[in-house]
Amino acid sequence: MKSGKQRRAEIMEKRRARIPVKESFDIYAMPTPAGAVMADREILKHNNTYSLLPLFYVDYAFNCRDCGCAQIWTGKQQKWWYEIMQGNINSVAVRCRSCRKTEQQRKKLAREIHLSGLAAKYEH
Ligand SMILES: [Zn+2]
Repeated sequence: MKSGKQRRAEIMEKRRARIPVKESFDIYAMPTPAGAVMADREILKHNNTYSLLPLFYVDYAFNCRDCGCAQIWTGKQQKWWYEIMQGNINSVAVRCRSCRKTEQQRKKLAREIHLSGLAAKYEH
């Protein structure tokens, strides 16, 4: 006569045989699209994220947030932004070049006004 432990082991063995082994899905084994710029994942380590880091960059089409013109953020520009400028991996291009310059000017002016206001407030 079999012990309870042996019977339980047999039952578990049968169950294991019944459950199909899930095919493992390896995102990094997928083919690279044509025209993609390969990413250097060692350099991307500054990103504090649990999500997957990109293997490559592909051209990203978007409309400018301010003027609405159609733009393409190329894979090469993305590599520059994420790897050389150490941009956050979740950030994407939202403005065209001229609108970006305008926005930078606006922010610079706003900062100057804010800081001069603070200086005037605490001057005495
Ligand atoms: Zn624009």
